[in-house]
Amino acid sequence: MAQIHELAVNLANQIAAGEVIERPASVVKELVENAIDAGSSRIRIDFIDAGLKQIVVQDNGSGIPSDQIDLAFTRHATSKIKNEHDLFNVSTLGFRGEALASIAAVSHVEILTNATGKVGTRAQFSAGIKKGQEEAAAVQGTQITVKDLFYNTPARLKYLRSPRTEIMKIVDIVNRIALGYPDIAFTLMNEGKLLLRTAGNNNLRQTVSSVYGRKVAEEMLGFKSSDNDFEVSGLISKPELTRATRNFISILLNGRYIKNFRLSSAVMDGYGNKLSDKHYPFAVVRIKTDPLLVDVNVHPTKREVRLSKETELSRLITNAISTALLIKENEVDAVNNL
Ligand code: ADP
Ligand code: MG
Repeated sequence: MAQIHELAVNLANQIAAGEVIERPASVVKELVENAIDAGSSRIRIDFIDAGLKQIVVQDNGSGIPSDQIDLAFTRHATSKIKNEHDLFNVSTLGFRGEALASIAAVSHVEILTNATGKVGTRAQFSAGIKKGQEEAAAVQGTQITVKDLFYNTPARLKYLRSPRTEIMKIVDIVNRIALGYPDIAFTLMNEGKLLLRTAGNNNLRQTVSSVYGRKVAEEMLGFKSSDNDFEVSGLISKPELTRATRNFISILLNGRYIKNFRLSSAVMDGYGNKLSDKHYPFAVVRIKTDPLLVDVNVHPTKREVRLSKETELSRLITNAISTALLIKENEVDAVNNL
């Protein structure tokens, strides 16, 4: 057997990237989540060639101090948690300290950032190796440009689907994130063509309108309920307004878009027998809870989380929705002031 040796850092990062960065949409998700964690109120995403040629994410958040850029691109380096206690109390979207290192391992990255409001910094990384850093004019916040994604991992490139599918995945993830953060103004552009713009005025119905169109937004009903552990609220479509997939149900747990079959089933249970077979509603379900009840450290992409009291939460959602559907038309307006 060959000698055991430690892998070079950039090779280890490339392996880690295989888990976190599956496709262009993963890059968009990670960069946008970082922008949200940085306290941004405006986030703009531009991409070219389904994200393979270029993805740019620009925010007006805290920025990264010039002396911390290297750390930001180091795996398992994060500003978001410090100790074990924090790990069970995660209130940010990120905490693993993996995304930037992973992205930089499989692309060319340029970062332009300003954390001070004075002079900014520009730095470049290629295949995980730092290429340079210099002072540069920059507005407050961070702009990250990812070029030639997967250029050094041909197997991953081959595994990607058609450009159309990859674009759909980018749009889907940005839509869901925007629904979770109606107080942030999102802009999404594909080669200069506007795909999504939200106002960021903290109005959920207007955000739904930007994502699914005005007709859908106007037809939706508000719901709200809470118990000792959870607060649920959001918008659901009337039973007549449905689609042929579950994809228009979004579950947002403390802002994070999660996949959870039981909770989306709880949404449909709220409709009782009002939905026809294979018809699924539009729903935006926002759940607020103590982070202690949520284990986000289950999967590298954090799309699946483990929830304490899932049964109670399911019941709360089902009841809130069935109540909302019972309310008569003239009472709906009051509830809809969400
Ligand atoms: P994580 O988000 O899990 O901490 P990342 O690799 O995504 O790991 O980011 C590493 C660190 O870089 C973050 O903890 C944060 O301090 C900093 N950072 C990344 N993106 C931004 C951004 N857009 N604005 C400000 N700081 C950022
Ligand atoms: Mg992150």
